[in-house]
Amino acid sequence: MKNIIPMVKYHPDARFLTDYAAGSLPASQALCVATHLHYCALCRQKNRELTELGAELFMQLQPAEVDHSEFERLVARIAVVPVNQPAKTRQAQVVSILPTAINKLANGNLEQLEWRRIGNNLRVANLNLGDQQRETSLLSIKAGGHVPHHRHKGDEITVILKGSFSDHEDKYSTGDFIVRTRGETHRPVASQDQDCLCLSTLDAPIVMSNWLLRIGLYLYNLAAAPQRRQA
Ligand SMILES: [Zn+2]
Repeated sequence: MKNIIPMVKYHPDARFLTDYAAGSLPASQALCVATHLHYCALCRQKNRELTELGAELFMQLQPAEVDHSEFERLVARIAVVPVNQPAKTRQAQVVSILPTAINKLANGNLEQLEWRRIGNNLRVANLNLGDQQRETSLLSIKAGGHVPHHRHKGDEITVILKGSFSDHEDKYSTGDFIVRTRGETHRPVASQDQDCLCLSTLDAPIVMSNWLLRIGLYLYNLAAAPQRRQA
């Protein structure tokens, strides 16, 4: 599983890694860090060191009842989801190189997820992690296609699972952990050679600069709402 070693350029900062090791990140953000760790040996090493340090500190404390983090509960939940025998499809081949948590959330086949099309180039599948504060999704951008120009009302973390995309600042590749903060505007474009698959978590909805797309997203949210309410 760890035979793919892309050049990872963007990493979670010290706060993310420390909170991840301490088990105090919200499930959606912890999933993003865990996904990055799948691709990044450097951060896996840092995580091991932080976890060992945390264990040492914990041993020095008075015994207390352990509160399982939201992410641990998520892992426990997805661990019991059976993974179907992958079909011999292109997507099934893709899913086999994905991090285990993503693979299990997709039940072994990305196409089983409920994908919604936004414009010609973008498909979005909502992942229900039970995190009421954030929306976590897989995004599939067609090769050469762009995500509509948008501004962030809150923070967004994106981790690239396959392919690459560029925006006005840089080009990002598999494994990169990209944080966009409130008020930033950008227009990601997937590279021409292959579709780009990303994991994304948003702590507030984005605002589309184009009113037609705003209506599209409004309809998308409307359609997704009953599914979220069942959670
Ligand atoms: Zn890293």
